[in-house]
Amino acid sequence: MSRDLTDGRALLDAWEAGAVAPSAARGATLAHHCGLVPDADTALDLPLGEIARLAARLYTAGFGSAATCVVSCPDCAERLEVRIDLDPLADAEPESAAPRPVPTSGGEVLVRPVTSRDLLAAATTEANAALLLASCLVGDHPAVDRLQPDDVAAIDTKLEELAGAAAATVQMRCPQCGTAMRIGVDVVALLWDQVRSNAPRLLAEIVTLATAYGWSEQSVLAMSATRRQAYLALVRR
Ligand SMILES: [Zn+2]
Repeated sequence: MSRDLTDGRALLDAWEAGAVAPSAARGATLAHHCGLVPDADTALDLPLGEIARLAARLYTAGFGSAATCVVSCPDCAERLEVRIDLDPLADAEPESAAPRPVPTSGGEVLVRPVTSRDLLAAATTEANAALLLASCLVGDHPAVDRLQPDDVAAIDTKLEELAGAAAATVQMRCPQCGTAMRIGVDVVALLWDQVRSNAPRLLAEIVTLATAYGWSEQSVLAMSATRRQAYLALVRR
């Protein structure tokens, strides 16, 4: 059963789980804790594009479809707030984990999308780029260190293509100096920012109501947000 982050209990559960998850596994952790994936192992083995799509679904359902990315212009260093509509990512078709063929100088190789588990494994080694590439080659293939640079580039291009929503970008011009920019949209980071800022706010509301009326955390969380806000307004009057 999927859980909406407008529900206080789901928000706090997601926050607790996300806070202790390594950043490479945070998207998978949130998708699993919100019930979009049946178990943690399955979530870790989903393509990053699918995790980003699920994160976009959680974001739009819990916080609305408009997200804000803050970036600096590479030329004039102007700080820019970019509004991003996450609906198209949330409404996209599920990303397939199926391997796809890539022609190389030594024949065709099969490449599958990168997963959170791949990122976790690569994060623990110095040769992480080579390990990441090796983990995405399926079936018979030459050793990664024997691939020609052009072949590595072709495989990298395919991996980027397979990243789907995990490699979403927005094109824009700096309103200050006119420089053209391509901004990467990290949907999982945007979702985590919302969870991380809203959970402590909710905890503060629980403390206020618990102090004023002696109610338990459970009973405050069982209320709708509308009723909780109405009681908070009475306390603050
Ligand atoms: Zn600029």
